[in-house]
Amino acid sequence: MSGHKVLSKSMESHKALIAIPRLIFPLAFQPKWSYHEGMRRFGADRDHGNRKHAGCDLYAPAGTPIYACADGVILRYENFYHQTHALEVDHGGFIIRYGEVSPYGLPKGLKVGSRVSAGQQIAKVGHLVGLRGLKSDMIHFELYGGWGSGKLSAPQLPAFKRRADLLDPTPHLDLALMRAGQTTTPRTLLSLVGAPIPLPTALPAM
Ligand SMILES: [Zn+2]
Repeated sequence: MSGHKVLSKSMESHKALIAIPRLIFPLAFQPKWSYHEGMRRFGADRDHGNRKHAGCDLYAPAGTPIYACADGVILRYENFYHQTHALEVDHGGFIIRYGEVSPYGLPKGLKVGSRVSAGQQIAKVGHLVGLRGLKSDMIHFELYGGWGSGKLSAPQLPAFKRRADLLDPTPHLDLALMRAGQTTTPRTLLSLVGAPIPLPTALPAM
């Protein structure tokens, strides 16, 4: 690897640190199936090894509310995999693609261009139609640093087939879960959906 490449890689890490502030976990509970493992994890093989999984899969029943991880503006709400939609939100410097959400419309009052607040409900978990032997209800969660340009999906690029500023969301989701129960907003969220307020290490599993 050339010195230039080493430098630009480390600059990307720095940019990621600066660009991604504290996130709110997008569900009001910790998924029972870890997004660190198996097919759910970032970088897992897809399409018989022809590409890598570009996000973390947060399993939750279809219809489960999804909350904005930070303040932002809705960029796109459009077709995604297997009769689901993806909701892209510009969170001010970084982008989250909340993938595999319900295609049956956004919550009342929201449309492309709308401002959303951290913790506001922005979508519902969708249902993937036509999968066999796999869980079919989840948020497919993708994170972008915001310094890329063009569409998030980039079939011409190797490995992930995504834009160059794609990031591994795992540590950011971990931090969001750790903070749940410690900060005001997640507590509010959890009480809104009637779930018990957990300790950081013992969120209700689902
Ligand atoms: Zn996925």
